[in-house]
Amino acid sequence: MAIIAVFNQKGGVGKTTTALNLLAGIAQRGLRPLGIDLDPQAHLSHVFGAQPKLADDSVYSFFVRRRPLADVAVITRSGIVMCPAHLELSKIDSLLGKGVNVVTRLRQALHQTGTMPGPVVIDCCPLLNVLSLNAVFACDLLLVPVSCDFLALQGALQVERALNALEPVFKLRLPRRYVLTRFDVRRKMSDEVMARMASAFRPDEICATRIRESVKLAESPAVELDIFRHAPESRGAQDYEALVEELVSTGFMS
Ligand code: ADP
Ligand code: MG
Repeated sequence: MAIIAVFNQKGGVGKTTTALNLLAGIAQRGLRPLGIDLDPQAHLSHVFGAQPKLADDSVYSFFVRRRPLADVAVITRSGIVMCPAHLELSKIDSLLGKGVNVVTRLRQALHQTGTMPGPVVIDCCPLLNVLSLNAVFACDLLLVPVSCDFLALQGALQVERALNALEPVFKLRLPRRYVLTRFDVRRKMSDEVMARMASAFRPDEICATRIRESVKLAESPAVELDIFRHAPESRGAQDYEALVEELVSTGFMS
């Protein structure tokens, strides 16, 4: 089963929006995905209505107390299984360091039989910290949203450099896809960022699907809904459905 980590070293590029709507789009196909929120800000957990009061009931205790993921997983009102985050996750780096045993902890847990009922989607924070490294080491695919602005592109270039530096450790090229988000044909910058991406990344590693700028997508977290529930006919729903379809057709998911 696929493990997809959504990461960019820049904040506000659409990581959580992408994780949320990928999970929802996968669930629409009749699969039961598992969402893992590795951002101390816990926005993904919030949208799913999964906000544990205690850090012990979040992925924090998986990392710090070695609680099984299944112990902290909750079934959300949208029927998606979710391991929620907690603000205390921001202390994990100083508590655990970045040793090999620490950064492969999530990978080991997810590969234990029976842990994954379906595809896994991990939402990351914008830092290459111990949590994001866990996501990078655990995933089969790193999905990097790039909102159509230059700082988002800078963040994506940082990710590319970090992945290339880690390549000797992985002993293979970690599969990655860059996906344009907040794309707006009317904005010149959208075209410029697209052109720069085309020269910076391998063509086959840039998603054909572009997520367009959409008011409905921006609204949906406020009403704590994914785009398929909030506005199933919107361009946001069309684009995220197309992204799931692209990941299926390129073999990352069945
Ligand atoms: P990140 O997780 O990378 O910090 P978010 O997913 O939280 O980014 O998105 C940042 C902001 O941009 C949010 O307010 C979100 O609603 C908005 N947003 C994300 N994608 C789109 C889109 N395609 N169209 C319009 N607004 C978007
Ligand atoms: Mg986020």
